[in-house]
Amino acid sequence: MAARLVVCWACVVLAGCGSSPLAPSTFEPADLGPVVAYLEADPWVHPLLGETLGPWVRRQLSSVRIYLDPTLPADVGARASLTSRELFWPPRNTDLSLTVQAAALIHEARHFEGYLHTCGTAGLQGDKTMEERGAFAIQIVYLEHKGEPSLADWLRRNYIGCH
Ligand SMILES: [Zn+2]
Repeated sequence: MAARLVVCWACVVLAGCGSSPLAPSTFEPADLGPVVAYLEADPWVHPLLGETLGPWVRRQLSSVRIYLDPTLPADVGARASLTSRELFWPPRNTDLSLTVQAAALIHEARHFEGYLHTCGTAGLQGDKTMEERGAFAIQIVYLEHKGEPSLADWLRRNYIGCH
């Protein structure tokens, strides 16, 4: 169960893909508005970011075009293109809890802040350490805050350190 959830949230970061033929949504498409609102309603200050998540995620995504893309493979939870500043988000993500969706969105937002994965292969990218405060570290600390320790631990075991 946990493994399937996490595999679904493994993201793919592309450095040079072209623009999508899909029409971009506004910043808050129907499927992402509730996720952003959920982050904004939380007064918690993320210790690795030093601020609350609502303003932070809005800032990171303010120049990103967001597409609802039903064609993403089932094992890809989201795809980010940093050069074209596009985020592809499958509509099926709404089947997951707001906490899990929010964790994935802040993971992707961290990429747009310039943090790329630092180890692993194309199909299984991770971050070398928690201390580098990359996308997985941001996601893991958030999941622990929201009372999802088993999912956080699974991510830590599989995506931190690149075994
Ligand atoms: Zn990622």
